[in-house]
Amino acid sequence: MPSPRDVGVVIVAAGSGTRIGGETPKQFLEIAGVPMLLRSIRPFARHPSVAHVVVVLRASDAAAPPAWLLPHAGQMLSLVAGGAERSDSVAAGVAALPAACEFVLVHDAARPFIDAELIDRVINAARAGHAVVPALAVTDTIKEMDAADPSRIVRTVPREQLRSVQTPQGFPRGVLEEAHARARREGRKGTDDAALVEQAGGMVRVVNGDPRNMKVTTPEDLELAEYLMRRGT
Ligand code: C5P
Repeated sequence: MPSPRDVGVVIVAAGSGTRIGGETPKQFLEIAGVPMLLRSIRPFARHPSVAHVVVVLRASDAAAPPAWLLPHAGQMLSLVAGGAERSDSVAAGVAALPAACEFVLVHDAARPFIDAELIDRVINAARAGHAVVPALAVTDTIKEMDAADPSRIVRTVPREQLRSVQTPQGFPRGVLEEAHARARREGRKGTDDAALVEQAGGMVRVVNGDPRNMKVTTPEDLELAEYLMRRGT
């Protein structure tokens, strides 16, 4: 039996991306000839469980979207304006999803290597009723620094229980909406959506992340992404 189209996707691309330098927001930069944002959209737009994709842009970009994005906007893909914080942008995106989207995946436009297998893992866990994040074991040794003197190490943090997490993060829609509403009421923010669920006392599960699903943040990341994309990872 084909799976239902009950998943809505929010792709956040409303950040300024200043760490990468230059005028163009990083999510509009090309990787091997294709804008990073388009690469982040495609695997979701093509996924058989996805009913709708909302792309959240800076207000100025939403008012005048780049020419390469416009032809993709339509019944299945809408463009909305984001907010000052990432969580404001996510909330704006979720609010724009049709009611049929019972499950929501939130993805950073800055992760253009997302593929169908990871999307499947996240959707399956969300459909089982979980808030879920893709996670990877931490391989570096992690040090905690002195808040007053950031050149001084306070301790080495045991890494066995540490994970670095990625997007897409998946949620039953009500869980995500409630976590955002509560964070707004209590004036809290998080660097990801799972943090808002955790702070609301909710349980967040993990599925295996994908080491290739890197986040493009710095000019060096962009160079690496270009190399990996051309090589066909
Ligand atoms: O700044 P950072 O790389 O952590 O941002 C993660 C993602 O959140 C990016 O895709 C960025 O475009 C998005 N974002 C947003 N609205 C903001 C800030 C960040 O959509 N106000």
